[in-house]
Amino acid sequence: MTSQTVSDNHVIQIHYSLHLGDSEVIDSSREREPLVYLHGASNIVPGLERQITDKAVGEKFSAVVPAAEGYGETDGATPQPVDRNNFPEGVELDAGMAFQAEGPDGEDLTLWIHEVQDDQVFVATHHPLAGKDLHFDIEVVGIRAATEDEVAHGHPHGPDGDQVH
Ligand code: ZN
Repeated sequence: MTSQTVSDNHVIQIHYSLHLGDSEVIDSSREREPLVYLHGASNIVPGLERQITDKAVGEKFSAVVPAAEGYGETDGATPQPVDRNNFPEGVELDAGMAFQAEGPDGEDLTLWIHEVQDDQVFVATHHPLAGKDLHFDIEVVGIRAATEDEVAHGHPHGPDGDQVH
């Protein structure tokens, strides 16, 4: 067995927690399953992907990702309410989810969910974490070579590569 390190075309499992510089954790995988992603396919923000490169299983480290390498800069727009009925039924809506909409001139528009309040969904054209420097604590918990299908699709098919979609 050679020891593997994180590189492109590998499926990586990480545990992470995220704060915005004040140590108050706003998101963590610790109470869930590890995050599974395909390295080198822009599944995660670029600054984090870059800092995980070459790490080995078991490594724990902190990574500060400036906004420009995270979710980009904010355009300053105030999130606007949209009726829940405009979204597909049966899909759980959460802050940070993106979807495609049509702009006033028929152009494609990416809208991000900022908040869900009962039957109102607040959306804006920037990610809720845009303009923020991201402070991650990372532990690499798994590395395996991606399958051909995973590389072709640009995403992992689950921890073991058997969840085809
Ligand atoms: Zn797929």
